[in-house]
Amino acid sequence: MKNVYQNKVVKFGGSSLASAEQILKAVAIIRGEESRRFVVPSAPGKRFSSDTKVTDLLIKVYNESAAGLPFEETFREIAERYLGIIRGLGLDLDLTAELETIHNQLTEGTTLDYVASRGEYLNGVIMAYYLGFTFIDAAEVIFFDEDGNFEAELTNRVMSRRLSRCKNAVIPGFYGSLPNGAVKTFSRGGSDITGAIVARAAKADLYENWTDVSGFLMVDPRIVEDPKPIEVITYRELRELSYMGASVLHEDAIFPVKVAGIPINIKNTNRPDDDGTFIVPKGTARSHSGVITGIAGRKGLKLIHLEKDMMNQEIGFGLKVLQVIADMGISFEHLPSGIDTMCVVLSGADLEGREQEILRRIEAAVHPDFMSIEDKLALVAVVGRGMAGTPGTACRVFNALAREDINIRMIDQGSSELNIIVGVNEDKFEHAIRAIYAEFAE
Ligand code: ASP
Repeated sequence: MKNVYQNKVVKFGGSSLASAEQILKAVAIIRGEESRRFVVPSAPGKRFSSDTKVTDLLIKVYNESAAGLPFEETFREIAERYLGIIRGLGLDLDLTAELETIHNQLTEGTTLDYVASRGEYLNGVIMAYYLGFTFIDAAEVIFFDEDGNFEAELTNRVMSRRLSRCKNAVIPGFYGSLPNGAVKTFSRGGSDITGAIVARAAKADLYENWTDVSGFLMVDPRIVEDPKPIEVITYRELRELSYMGASVLHEDAIFPVKVAGIPINIKNTNRPDDDGTFIVPKGTARSHSGVITGIAGRKGLKLIHLEKDMMNQEIGFGLKVLQVIADMGISFEHLPSGIDTMCVVLSGADLEGREQEILRRIEAAVHPDFMSIEDKLALVAVVGRGMAGTPGTACRVFNALAREDINIRMIDQGSSELNIIVGVNEDKFEHAIRAIYAEFAE
């Protein structure tokens, strides 16, 4: 594909930076195009499947020090990861002072967030040095309020100003700072969020997110062998698929680029010539022939089934049921309803040990004629912007399941026509996904 972008933010995930060898691949990618101006690194990830991510080692070293246990061995392991990278890159960078600071903080007592963030910090120092780019400590440009909520607008103002003064820079992922200056991290996998924040502040025309897969696949490859890749997906479709369990990108990474209308390109550091997946705003979607974009699903759901004669005329029935659920601090997932029936789909884990309580409370609130909790429910979501206005898609989904003798326990289609969700028995989950995929994968 011809390169039409001039101002890119590139984020590299942990596996892309796990060793000197991997970092050299990232460096070649960055240097391959002048447009790759701002780099957001994660901490070094796993080099092989039984390896430990540096962030996990940092959490371990923090826990050891906080419990008053010896932590030297873990600390040495962490230091050795970085020293190995520096050696492998042939750099004359001396990290002694940086490592000493972290060691002192551990000895004196510091926060978990500070320690966990050092994985990205040190990787950022190394990459900036190697590339000859400016190093910008994320704590100086990414802000949280006292309660730990991300301050999007303040961050955008300060970071934009700072970036406008640099031709190139490395900004470590995963953390920022609280009003008192202390380091605060995002949730795990949060470097994706930093990349999106930097993309917005840099007014980038593309946010490249480099990882170890060539974008999203239409369906989980553990369920369907060698599924087709997704070339283009909208932010909304991605949200639907991630909610249903497809994960490559941190969920909160969408918002900053969505408000700025910046597309994301998921790319593979080990196969840089693969196109990967483009995540784009609605309406700007490139050509895309398929009706459906992807299929995902979730197991472990439960369904509360309620029946009451003339329910449809009883004002406030649904409200009272949902109030019970809210009062118990549970969020509901779906709400399919009939004339005199109402179902609430909940996560099985949320209901664990509380089934009798919820039934009791609903009974007291609305006195249904019949009520039951059904378990072993799995949901399969068929997602695709191509479905809107295309007659026959639901029919094809249902036929595909009927042919395989799979019973549909529940159906839900949002009015956006972006997805069709079907509920099947958990033991038919994989089978249902394979059947639907076979129907639509041309
Ligand atoms: N290093 C952090 C983690 O392992 C953040 C990230 O990699 O995105 O969760």
